[in-house]
Amino acid sequence: MSLKLFSPIRKTLGLRLSGYFVLFTLGGLGLFAATYGLLSYTLYHRDREAIHTALTDYAEAYHRDGIDAIKEKVAESGRGGALFFFVRVSDVKDAFLYLPQQWDEEFDLERLSSAGSDASWLDIRSKNSEDKEVLEITSLRLADGALLQVGLNSEGRLDLLEVFRSTFAAVMILVVVMGLAAGAFLARRALRPLRDLLSLLRSIVSTGELNARAPVSGTGDELDELGKLFNITLDKIKLLITGMRHALDNVAHDLRTPMTRLRGMAEVALRTDVPAEQLREALANCIEESDHILAMLNTLMDISEAETGALKLDIKPVNVGKLVEHVVELYGPVAEEKGILISTAVPQELTLSADRSRILQVLANLLDNAIKYTSRGGRVDITAALRAQQVVVTVTDTGIGIPSDDLEKIWERLYRGDKSRSQRGLGLGLSLVKAVVHAHQGSVDVVSDGAHGARFTVFLPA
Ligand code: ADP
Repeated sequence: MSLKLFSPIRKTLGLRLSGYFVLFTLGGLGLFAATYGLLSYTLYHRDREAIHTALTDYAEAYHRDGIDAIKEKVAESGRGGALFFFVRVSDVKDAFLYLPQQWDEEFDLERLSSAGSDASWLDIRSKNSEDKEVLEITSLRLADGALLQVGLNSEGRLDLLEVFRSTFAAVMILVVVMGLAAGAFLARRALRPLRDLLSLLRSIVSTGELNARAPVSGTGDELDELGKLFNITLDKIKLLITGMRHALDNVAHDLRTPMTRLRGMAEVALRTDVPAEQLREALANCIEESDHILAMLNTLMDISEAETGALKLDIKPVNVGKLVEHVVELYGPVAEEKGILISTAVPQELTLSADRSRILQVLANLLDNAIKYTSRGGRVDITAALRAQQVVVTVTDTGIGIPSDDLEKIWERLYRGDKSRSQRGLGLGLSLVKAVVHAHQGSVDVVSDGAHGARFTVFLPA
C-alpha cells in the first residue's frame, strides 16, 4: 500500500493553517483600512472646521478695526504656536491688500486672484510637484466688498497620517513575523502526536509488526486520546489475530486426526481382497468420522455466528422446569449407566424469554460435561431460581474439578483440559455455551477448587 495515502492529511492541515493565517492578516489589514479611513476623514473635517472658524474670526476683526486688525491677529497666531493660517485680503478690484510673503514661496498663489467669493473650497498644490501637501482655502466677501481668504496647509494632517501608516506597518510586520513563528512552532508541537502516529502506521504497514505502540503524553487532549484509542485498537487487533491463529492451528490439528483416519479407512476399503463384511465396516466408520468432522464444523459455525450476532434466535417464553426435565430425560440413561445421581430443584412456574432449542443446547452441554467428568457414584445437581430479574441456573457436580489455571482457558475454542483427554469431546462445548448465553445478553461463570467438582452458573435475563 502506498504511504502517499497519508500525505493529504498533512497537506490539508498545512493548507488550513495557512488559510487561517491569511484570514488573520487580511483581517488586520481591513481593520487598518477602516481605522485609517476614519482617522483621515475626522482630521480632514477638523481642519475644515478650524479654517471656517478662523475665517469668521478674521472677518469679525476686519469689521472691527480694518486691515490692521488682521495683520495684528496673524502676527499673534504666529507667536502663540497655534495653527498657522494662511490669510489674504484683496479689495473689490482684486487689488492685493494683505498677504504674508512666506506662503508665496511654497504655493502657487496666482490662482487665488481668479477665485470666486462663494465660500467654496479651493485646493492649491505645492510648487514642488513631489510634495503632496495642499493649501486648503475658503473665502468670504466682506461688507466693504473686500475678499477675505483663509486657508491651512494640509502638511500637518498628512504628517500625522504618515506616522500612523508607518507605525501600523511596523506593528503589522512584527505581528505577522511573530504570528508566523509562533504559529509554526505551535502547529509543529500540536501535530507531534499525529506525526508519531503516522510514523507508527508506516512501520506497521511496512513491517506488519503490531508490537509498537503510539507514545501517550497524558495531556488528555484529543490527539492524546487518539493515541490511547489507537493503542487499544492495536491491542485488540493483536489479541484477535492471536486468537484466530490459535483457533486455526487447533482446527487444523483437530481435523488432521479424523481426516487421517478417514483416509486410512478408505484405503482399506479400496483394497480388492477385502471381504464384504470388512468393507461395510470401513464405510460405516467413514460415515462416523465424517459426522464427527461435520459436528465440529457446525459447532464452530454456530459459535462464530453467536459471537458476531448473526445467530437467529427464536425468542419465546420458555418454562425452565420443563426444559431442565427434558435435558435430564435426555442424559438420564448415560448418568444411570455411570451410577451418577441427577437431582433438580426448579420452581414450576419459572419462565424465561429465550430461544428454547439454544438454551436446551446450553444445558445439555453443561450436563454432558458434568456427567462426563464425574466418576462412578458421583452426583449432579441442577437448580434454577429467579434473582434480581435474572434466571439463575446452576449445574454442580462432584467430579474431577477444574485446575485454577484452566478456569479461564476452558471457554476458548478447542481447548481441552489435560485431565479430560481420555474422554470423548471436541473442546467446543463451553465456547458454544458462552457464545449462546452472551447472544441472549446473559453471562456464565464457573467455580471449582480443582479437585472436588465444579459449579457452572448461567445468568439469563428473565
Ligand atoms: P470438551 O468437554 O469437549 O473437552 P468443553 O468445551 O465442553 O470441551 O470443555 C472444555 C474443558 O473444560 C474440558 O476439556 C474439561 O477440561 C473442562 N471441563 C468442562 N466441564 C467440566 C466439568 N464439569 N468438570 C471438570 N472439567 C470440566
